[in-house]
Amino acid sequence: MRTTLIALSCLAAGLNATEMPPTYVCGRADTPPIIDGRGDEPAWQQARELSPLRDIEGDTIPHRCRIKMLWDDNCLYVLADMDEPHLWATLKEHDSVIYRDPDFEVFIDPDGDGLNYIELEINALNTTWDLFLTHPYHFDSPIVLHDWEMPGLKHAVNLRGTLNDAGDTDDGWSVELAIPWSSICDHASQPRRNRAPEAGSSMRLNFSRVNWQVRPDSDSPCGYSKLTDAEGNPLPESNHVWAPTGKVYIHLPERWGRVVLSPRSASVWEATVPEPQEKTKLELYRILHAQREHRASQGSFSRSYPLPDGVQLLFPTDDYFILTATCPRSGVRMTLDSEGRYTASAPTYHLPEIFLWVHGDAVNEQTWESTCQRYAQAGINTLIISGSTAQLASLTPAATKAGLEVFAWLWALNRPQDSEPMKHPDWFAVNALSTSCHRPENRPFVEYYQFLCPGNDEVRRHLLARVQELATIPGLSGIQTDYMRLPDARLPRGLWGKYGLDMSPAPAFDYCYCATCQELFRARYGRAPLPAPAEDKEWLDFRLDCIADVYNLLAEETRRHHLRSACAVFPSPSLAAEMVRQDWSRFRADLALPMAYHSFYDEPPAWDAAITRKAQKETAHRIPLAPGIHLPDAPADQLHAQLDALHETGAHGIALFSDEELTQEHLQALQQWLNNQKNSKSTSK
Ligand SMILES: [Zn+2]
Repeated sequence: MRTTLIALSCLAAGLNATEMPPTYVCGRADTPPIIDGRGDEPAWQQARELSPLRDIEGDTIPHRCRIKMLWDDNCLYVLADMDEPHLWATLKEHDSVIYRDPDFEVFIDPDGDGLNYIELEINALNTTWDLFLTHPYHFDSPIVLHDWEMPGLKHAVNLRGTLNDAGDTDDGWSVELAIPWSSICDHASQPRRNRAPEAGSSMRLNFSRVNWQVRPDSDSPCGYSKLTDAEGNPLPESNHVWAPTGKVYIHLPERWGRVVLSPRSASVWEATVPEPQEKTKLELYRILHAQREHRASQGSFSRSYPLPDGVQLLFPTDDYFILTATCPRSGVRMTLDSEGRYTASAPTYHLPEIFLWVHGDAVNEQTWESTCQRYAQAGINTLIISGSTAQLASLTPAATKAGLEVFAWLWALNRPQDSEPMKHPDWFAVNALSTSCHRPENRPFVEYYQFLCPGNDEVRRHLLARVQELATIPGLSGIQTDYMRLPDARLPRGLWGKYGLDMSPAPAFDYCYCATCQELFRARYGRAPLPAPAEDKEWLDFRLDCIADVYNLLAEETRRHHLRSACAVFPSPSLAAEMVRQDWSRFRADLALPMAYHSFYDEPPAWDAAITRKAQKETAHRIPLAPGIHLPDAPADQLHAQLDALHETGAHGIALFSDEELTQEHLQALQQWLNNQKNSKSTSK
C-alpha cells in the first residue's frame, strides 16, 4: 500500500480542491518540557493546538487526537493526546515496521523542497522507527534509509488504560517527543548542522495516526486480532492526518502543513497568513504527477502538456523537464523538476491581499459569474459575502471558479435578521438604565441594533451553531465576524450630526448590564459594578473580556472546521474598547479588518494609515491586518493615494467596503495600482 499508488493528479472527493495546506505558528517553550509522555507542564498548557486530524482523504474522523508543538534552541517538541478505547501494541524492537501496530507518526521536510525528509513512528510500547527518505516512494528510485537514526531523540508515552487487555475499555494514550534540531537539520539540502533554524523560518510537517480494526482474541498475545477480508488479509488501516493529501498515501510533502517558528513565547497569541504562492505551487505538482502518469503509460513525458496561464515548461526531453511559475503577489519564482525537486526564490515584493465586502442578498445571480471574473481580473483576492447559508452556498462556486477565496460574513452580537433571539427576551444586551435591546422601540440609534448579550451561554451556543452551519458550505476559506461588540457607548464624531447627538458617555448607551453579566461579574470580583462606570476599571475589563471570549469561542470553532477566522473591528483596539467594548488585541484572530474610515471620525484621509499604525503597535504585530477603505470616501481618482498610504503601513491586506459602491473605474484604478506596484518593485530590484 505504501509504495504503490495511482492517479496522484486527481484528489479524492473528501478533500476540497480549493483547500490549502494548514498553517501553524509554533511558539517558543519558556522552559523545556520534561519528556514523560504526560504533557502537564505549563509550557504545554500555553501551547496552541493544531487544527484537528482528519481522515487522509479529507473526511472528518471519530477519534479525537489533540496535537501541540513547541520549540527552543535545542529541540522541536511534539505532544499528541489520543482517545483510544482499545490500547494494544506488540512491537518492542527499535526500527520494526511500527505501523503494523496502532501508532503515531511525524513527517518533517525541514527545507520544504519535497525531498530529503524524515519519518518517525512510535507505538504504545514507546518503540520507535526512525527513517530518512531522499524521495517520496512514487519517484523512480527513492533511497529509504530504514536504519537511519535520529540521535538525541527523547520519546515517552503515557497510557490512560491497560495495554493489551481486551477485557476493559481504555481512555487513550499520549506521545511526547523532543526532536533535536541537530537530527532534523543535518539532512536538509541546505545544511544547518547542530543549530536551531532561525525564528520566523518555516518547515513542512505532517502527523499521522494509524489505527486497525480489531476484535478481542484471547489466543492473541496482545488480546486482539485484526479483522480480515475473505482472503484473510487485514482490513485496511485508517490514517488520520493533520494535512490531508486527498489520497491514502502520505508521501506528498507538497500537501503537508506549514509550521512557522515564532520568536515569541507560546503563551502569546500570534497568527500568520497562508503564503500567496501556495496555490500555484500545488498546480505545479498537479502537472508533475500528471506528466509522470503520462510517462508511465506512454513511455515518455509529454512536450505539449496543456499548461495553465503563467506556468512554463523548460528543457523538455522524453525524460526530463522543469516547470516554472512566478507568484503574482510576491514575485516568488518557483521551479519544480521532473525528479520532484522544488525551489522557491525569496519574495521580491509584497502585494496586499485585496478583500471586498459583498452584500450577498443583493447580488444579481444572472451576472454573478462574470462579476466574479471582473473582480479577479482587477486583482481582488477574497470576497467577504453576507447572506443566508443557502445564498452563500449558491454564490461560492462561481467565486472559487474565478480564483477568488470566499469568507462568510457573519453578523455576531447584532442580529437584526435572526428571529430565534426574539423568542428569548433574556438574550438581549441591557444598558445601565436597565433597558433591553429586545423591543425595537428601545434600541439605541437605529431599529436594527438588535444586540445580544455577550455573557449569555445560550447566546454563545446560538452563535456557535451559526458558525457550524456556515462551515458546511463547500469551498469556503474563512468566516469573518462583524458586530463582535456592544452598541456604541460613544459614536464617532463624524456621525454625531447624523443621529442629532452630542455624545458624551451616557448610561443609555452603556451596555451590558443584564442580570447574567452582573452575576458573572459578582462571581469574579465579589461586588456589583460601581454606580459611576468611568471609575470602575474592573467592570470595563470584565466586559472587554466577555466580548473577547465570544470571539475566541467562535474562532476556535471556525479553525476546528479548517477555516480562517477573521473579524471586522473598530480602527484600533484602544479606540474600539472605549467606543464599543471591543478590545480586539484580546482576540485570537487569524486576520483583523479594521474599519479605518476617516470620514466617520471627521478626520483627513491620512488618518486611516496613522490609526492602522497605532493598531499594529497595540497588537504588537501579532495579528495580520487588512484595513478597510470606505469607497464612498475614495472616488476612483483618489483610490491610488489611499492604497499607497495603507500599503506603506506594511499591513498584510486592504479591504474595500463595499460591492455596492464599487465602480468599474474603481476596478480599473485597483488593477493599475497593483500593476504599478509590481513593475516598480521588479525594476527597482
Ligand atoms: Zn449581558
